[in-house]
Amino acid sequence: MIGATTSGELRAHNRVRLLRAVHDCGATRTRSQLTRDLNLARGTASVLVAGLAEDELLHEEPAPEPARGRPTQVPGPHPRGPVALAVDVREDAWELAACELGGRTTVLGLQSHDGTPEGVLGPLGDAIAAHRRRLGHRVVGVGVALAGPVRHGGLVDIAHLGWRSVDVPHLLGLEGEAGAEGPIVGNDTAFAALAEARRGRLQGVRVGLHLHVDFDLGGVLVVEGRPLAGASGMGAEFGHMPLAGGDRLCPCGAIGCWGMDVGANALLRHVGLAHGGGRGRAQAEQVLATSEEAVEANARALGRGVAALVNAHDPEVVTLSGHGVELYERAGQTLMDSCGPGLMAIRRDHPPRIEGSALGWRGALLGAMESVFDAFLTPEELEKWRENHPDQGRDTPEQQNVTHSTLMGAKPL
Ligand SMILES: [Zn+2]
Repeated sequence: MIGATTSGELRAHNRVRLLRAVHDCGATRTRSQLTRDLNLARGTASVLVAGLAEDELLHEEPAPEPARGRPTQVPGPHPRGPVALAVDVREDAWELAACELGGRTTVLGLQSHDGTPEGVLGPLGDAIAAHRRRLGHRVVGVGVALAGPVRHGGLVDIAHLGWRSVDVPHLLGLEGEAGAEGPIVGNDTAFAALAEARRGRLQGVRVGLHLHVDFDLGGVLVVEGRPLAGASGMGAEFGHMPLAGGDRLCPCGAIGCWGMDVGANALLRHVGLAHGGGRGRAQAEQVLATSEEAVEANARALGRGVAALVNAHDPEVVTLSGHGVELYERAGQTLMDSCGPGLMAIRRDHPPRIEGSALGWRGALLGAMESVFDAFLTPEELEKWRENHPDQGRDTPEQQNVTHSTLMGAKPL
């Protein structure tokens, strides 16, 4: 318990803890389980849940299988509660979803695009604006995953599409709106890694390595549940290291990038099909399903790079998402056989586990959602939510309102 020095601050802190616990467990734990998890008194938990329900942040449903004796309630998202809009912008299409506390996700749109900044972000910005109008105050933020390095402020480079310093918030029409926060723009691999750490196979892992394979591959180290972002926000670029021994010129400008040999573009190139520019997903999936030789070549290059990164970073687990899951399923042995000899001898007795993602292709989208809720689940943002809901809390005693406004400017000791 750090920083909360008054009963009001303690309550605000516990509101965040409870919502965070409900969100992280996927709204599956009963009120009494959460009460124990958070080491709260039963009466305190009841008051907290009632207050959060009144603010339309939580809603309780009876547990599917009530414990003997008394009915049990499971706190989950309120039907008029906060929504994170999350987008995964891939090189050939984007997917937009609405996510509730707990992680329930409703896909709102999936649309292919022409690959130009205006062609991608114009229609996407319109779609986001339409859903924000429809959902109103419920939208607490927008998270956008993109397949390239992202600098602080949302400037994005996607070498395969010829994007250079594209101002994503500006082209989405989401910057500078009165009272509205700009979008949280992030790299798809870093978001996929974040989701894997929260809801997938990197949960509870101290040092993990996550690799996301789409048209090429990205990779990022995850330490204590956090993808390492780098000084300017441009981590997650292991795909642009010469790890597999290739010598081709990469669209990023470097020679021999690992991503030239792993992913949909490499599969297409292997069988002599046109590739690049975010085109050819269906053909690449066909190659993945039918060409053992192309799959094996991809898996060998993947394994070599994994060995190099394991030598450098010593992760406990290596997780693979996107096409990485299929490469692991189709050619797992080749991947391991290629990885093994690249490991330092001292690592070979205890190599890290390599696993397919538990989240498949949804990781980037879910990571975008997590970033929005990370920004929302703070005492300050929950207070703003209350203030934006003047019709709620009408039954709150006057005394509490006074306490709140008095504490707003109080500094923790
Ligand atoms: Zn490169």
